Amino acid sequence: MQILTEQKAELDALINGYSAGAVLRHGVDCVLLGRPNVGKSMLFNKIIGRRLSIVEDTPGVTRDRIYGESDWNGRKFTLVDTGGIEPNTDNQILAFMRQQAQIAIDNATVIVLVTDIKTGMTAADQEVAGMLQRSKKPIVLAVNKMDSTGVTDPEFYEFYNLGLGDPIAVSAVHGHGTGDLLDACLQYFPPETDEEEDSDVVQVAIIGKPNVGKSSLTNRILGEQRVIVSDVAGTTRDAIDSYFENATGKYNFIDTAGMRKKSKVDDAIEKYSVLRATMAIERSDVCLIMIDAQDGVTEQDTKVAGLAHDAGKACIIVVNKWDLVEKDGKTMDRMREDIRRDLSYMPYAPIVFISAMTGQRVSRLFELINYVREQASMRITTGMLNSVLADAQTRVQPPTDKGRRLKIYYMTQVGIRPPHFVVFCNDKKLFHFSYRRYLENQIRSVFGLEGTPIIMTVRQKGEEDS
Ligand code: GDP
Ligand code: GDP
Repeated sequence: MQILTEQKAELDALINGYSAGAVLRHGVDCVLLGRPNVGKSMLFNKIIGRRLSIVEDTPGVTRDRIYGESDWNGRKFTLVDTGGIEPNTDNQILAFMRQQAQIAIDNATVIVLVTDIKTGMTAADQEVAGMLQRSKKPIVLAVNKMDSTGVTDPEFYEFYNLGLGDPIAVSAVHGHGTGDLLDACLQYFPPETDEEEDSDVVQVAIIGKPNVGKSSLTNRILGEQRVIVSDVAGTTRDAIDSYFENATGKYNFIDTAGMRKKSKVDDAIEKYSVLRATMAIERSDVCLIMIDAQDGVTEQDTKVAGLAHDAGKACIIVVNKWDLVEKDGKTMDRMREDIRRDLSYMPYAPIVFISAMTGQRVSRLFELINYVREQASMRITTGMLNSVLADAQTRVQPPTDKGRRLKIYYMTQVGIRPPHFVVFCNDKKLFHFSYRRYLENQIRSVFGLEGTPIIMTVRQKGEEDS
């Protein structure tokens, strides 16, 4: 395959734009926390802008707009907005805030407590500030809606009473103060390294709808009743990271159960599940997506699985409660087909049928977890990729439009976990979804990449890196 010097130079510049081989760090750098209507989502949008998801160009389920990636002074960071829940009474507000704060404390590096100059400091602010202080996490205090840049509202100084250090005046509407806010956060971020230290502990998030058996699976693995399991709505427990070691390796299971208590507002339960799942997924290397064998794939399952896919995580579909299903010789195949149809955006994910209750096939999970993690960490040489690309183009000619044919010059891998490829072509518009799908399938048929999504970024000649 010929590649012109000029194109090669452009391509090199392009590739340098990505830190080659970079692995995203675990967890969320920064979380916005605060009462409803203080302006969290507006602040989130101001900071993240349009750059909402780390996984570009992957077809899938659109992520809730609570997670975003941006950079500040050359440092990339991730941000989560805990908003979107609208409790009615003061009591509810406090209960909700406590839950949000707990999720943030469990998962984030820095917590930004957003307050509002218009309402002034409230009892709920004070309560949550106390909770945050006790967590010993780095906290940054923002006072929002400070729209005028002139004289400082005397109310502003009230916020010193929260005991969280200097408040930072911001206006999400105008963008004032957001730089100071990010400076304050940045000092707590760990230094960015090209390659994350390859910890030998595999982080595994167990995700799925309530009652699918997440706690039961964690218990089964740990072999003790560490978390309370019940099908009575109202049971709850705190977030627990469970460390486990066996001959196959070392694992930390991040359980996303809980958060079922006291939520009188149905909608809120769902939003908490999403928030909690999102944060757990960010921290994970591998996601176990649990499906209830009796229910099949539900809408909520599609959504949860979509979060893992969009986050670019290695995934295993775990069908639980297999003991409850009446089986004939074809039950498993039928179920597998149904799942492939309903979760069509993740054909790469292995499916395993287990019973957390009886322990059936639970031990298989460990090999599978190791396997998909290795697959997601695969590095393919440019030479090998380009020979697959050449082959693929000979077999199925790239599409044409109005007499102009798509030319693919070159392809290279720029990242792992998930494998990230950059394809360089003459015209992006000609690179239709179907050809992308075809290329992805060709790559998978040669290299496997089982259990992991892949990212394919398409660039064309002369295009600025964005
Ligand atoms: P959230 O519930 O904390 O996510 O709050 P929103 O972002 O939805 O904002 C709540 C309301 O406050 C909206 O009506 C916003 O327009 C308003 N708002 C947010 N930020 C500012 C700001 O900096 N200045 C002013 N004046 N209003 C703001
Ligand atoms: P979570 O909300 O996802 O953590 O679900 P739980 O682990 O609390 O399980 C919900 C209910 O399903 C409990 O009553 C469990 O005993 C039951 N359960 C979980 N896994 C299985 C299974 O494999 N088989 C059967 N029969 N019941 C299960």
